[in-house]
Amino acid sequence: MRRSLVAANWKMNGSREFAEAFFKALDLKGANGDVVFCPPFPYLPLVGELVESSGYDNAGLGAQNVSEQEAGAFTGEVSVAMLKDLAVRYVIVGHSERRSLYHEDSALVATKFRAAREAGLVPILCVGETLEEREASQALDVIGAQLDAVSELVGSDCWNGAVIAYEPVWAIGTGKTATPEEAQAVHEFIRSRLGAAGPQVQILYGGSVKAANAASLFEQPDIDGALVGGASLDAAEFAEICRAA
Ligand code: PGA
Repeated sequence: MRRSLVAANWKMNGSREFAEAFFKALDLKGANGDVVFCPPFPYLPLVGELVESSGYDNAGLGAQNVSEQEAGAFTGEVSVAMLKDLAVRYVIVGHSERRSLYHEDSALVATKFRAAREAGLVPILCVGETLEEREASQALDVIGAQLDAVSELVGSDCWNGAVIAYEPVWAIGTGKTATPEEAQAVHEFIRSRLGAAGPQVQILYGGSVKAANAASLFEQPDIDGALVGGASLDAAEFAEICRAA
């Protein structure tokens, strides 16, 4: 039986004041699954402390990105060792905003995934198709290639201990969600591509998840939780999503 997981991706939002007020308002009573908070890098130590003192045993800390390099002259980058040093357990790799705005291709994403795995972090690998690709019936080919780039570099047993997030690009921050059936079809496809680890891997859906649509997504057999952007900035709404998982 897989545990559910709901991850908050705050993206480039928040402040010290925001984080403190958020955790003061957050009430995770009734949420039984894993919950992960991914604030911007500068707030990792603060959010780590807030998570710790929240008293919620299943909550963890995650980063939104990481360097594939170990250390050295890489201005502006953050290494896996630094994340470990801050008690970070999860790291998002290959978010579509990183792929499209910062030109991270699947080969680079695979090296980030490998760096995270080797350091003992849990990579949350984001995959998903654009609207154009979906309309051209290429969604599964695109997602399959995004997964293959990782397994070809890291090895076919790379999925054990990883999390996958299916995030259709056309649903991110747009208010358009894939229907539960559309999402389930892709999740089932993803799981079938993960080999022996498939049945154990948590596969999250992301893209305009809100309290109002979370339960119907989580009812699907292959949807194990969500990666939440916009709605993760509201403590009450986010807690409601966590309770639905
Ligand atoms: P959204 O973002 O919930 O605001 O659509 C999801 C994500 O990008 O991870």
